[in-house]
Amino acid sequence: MTAMIIDGKEFAARVRAKVAGHVTRLKDQHGVTPGLAVVLVGEDPASQVYVRSKGKMTVEVGMKSVEHKLEADTSEAELLDLIARLNNDPEIHGILVQLPLPKHLDEDLVINSISPAKDVDGFHISNVGLLGTGQKSMVPCTPLGCLMMLRDHHGSLSGMDAVVIGRSNIVGKPMAQLLLGDSCTVTIAHSRTKDLADVVRRADIVVAAVGRPEMVPGDWIKEGATVIDVGINRLDAPEKGEGKTRLVGDVDYDSCAARAGAITPVPGGVGPMTIACLLANTVTACCRANGLDEPEGLTA
Ligand code: NDP
Repeated sequence: MTAMIIDGKEFAARVRAKVAGHVTRLKDQHGVTPGLAVVLVGEDPASQVYVRSKGKMTVEVGMKSVEHKLEADTSEAELLDLIARLNNDPEIHGILVQLPLPKHLDEDLVINSISPAKDVDGFHISNVGLLGTGQKSMVPCTPLGCLMMLRDHHGSLSGMDAVVIGRSNIVGKPMAQLLLGDSCTVTIAHSRTKDLADVVRRADIVVAAVGRPEMVPGDWIKEGATVIDVGINRLDAPEKGEGKTRLVGDVDYDSCAARAGAITPVPGGVGPMTIACLLANTVTACCRANGLDEPEGLTA
């Protein structure tokens, strides 16, 4: 079997177009412009790239984008003060603090200081609890993007066996909650899981969120399964020239694509969906803040 490629780039463009339509409606019919504030502390190069592209795409869909770039030695009190101001700013509907934060800042404290209604990353403890209990919440962007692609490909996920490899708070655990919410039978695997190959072989849906380049080989994949590769790993690529690198996922793409029914590539799979879902969450937050109906299909 040769897998169908789930094109995350194209899917993300569709989500952004949908978001842009809702932004226009919010502006024209309700006089409201959704606003997203991104806070970056320090100069981590990868974070700078993410923040830049988030800002660019926010503007492209017609929303207001505000960036706060703070020095690496910013104190916790200064950061909390900025977040408090953004929490109280009626023109800001979504707040994202780019992680990781410098070591001297308490990430949990900072994230939990964001108003849950504006927590477009879905990491606030209230949103984690709401998602875990099946209530309306802000849903973490990467798992939300994976869920959207799975629903689009399969329609109903009810009764399917899903294995999520990885149990992080930002990907693995919320992904498992979302799949459970869609009535999958969910297994969460991690570094202590025994016989991982056998666990993965049972799955109709495999979500790999491990951070280990090409760890999942094709012979772990059940014939016809759907493989969602969340991993982003940068490897040296001397064949492309000195100092060049290439991105690979957590699954061995060629061998997995030979057995899967559908698969997301890296790059061009889950990655683009993450930012699209951040924009979707900001529109959702804006609608909720203004007591308006939420757009359909943009949240879980
Ligand atoms: P974490 O490092 O927080 O978590 C990795 C998880 O993988 C842990 O639960 C760990 O288990 C598990 N793990 C590690 N080694 C093994 C192993 N040998 N067998 C089974 N499980 C293992 O990573 P994240 O969840 O933050 O990210 C995962 C990947 O997704 C990374 O490549 C990251 O770059 C990518 N990512 C991509 C995003 C996107 O937009 N596409 C967004 C966020 C992340 P244990 O808990 O036991 O240590």
